[in-house]
Amino acid sequence: MSTLIIKILPKGILLCLLCLGLSCKSGVERSNLHAEGIYKDGFRTYTSIEAKLDSLSKTPKVEPTRGAMCYEPMMRNNESKDFICSKCKKATKYDIETYEEIVQAKRILEGIKNLKVVIDDSGFCKSCSPKPSLRFKVSIYYPDKKDPIVSELSIQDVNIIKQFLDGSKVYTGERDSKTDMKDMLPLLKRVFLGVKE
Ligand SMILES: [Zn+2]
Repeated sequence: MSTLIIKILPKGILLCLLCLGLSCKSGVERSNLHAEGIYKDGFRTYTSIEAKLDSLSKTPKVEPTRGAMCYEPMMRNNESKDFICSKCKKATKYDIETYEEIVQAKRILEGIKNLKVVIDDSGFCKSCSPKPSLRFKVSIYYPDKKDPIVSELSIQDVNIIKQFLDGSKVYTGERDSKTDMKDMLPLLKRVFLGVKE
């Protein structure tokens, strides 16, 4: 009986060590691959955004909710403010609310981390665009893609992509209305992957 245990034991230990070694090795390799798959030189890769969009499309549906009703203030603010174009440095007048929205959206785009985003705001400039498009021209550069993905974004689009990048499964819009982020997939695919539908 005792000889049997001695005979079996070394083999068992050996097998255990082998298994441990193998699982450790594959674990390390997997996590390295994971990190490299998402970031390269500190920037997110095209492949990782593609995977993020794919996992969004597989999340359970979220029921939309309408925003709370609220009345517009009686007195509209007639004040205007000059928006300065980054391209030509010329000014375009906007009412204060629109001006604030443009500046806020630009700040959001400039604040995006881990993604190389080049912003052209001449779509808000009367000198550059005689008929302002009221859209940002955005170029996203990926470390694993030769050419940038170029798209045009409205102020609302900017808020949607920001919430998506923050990992939200729901888009919170005006007056706190909620929309399933999955409904934004065509926009997100156009902006991040250059998919035109
Ligand atoms: Zn301009």
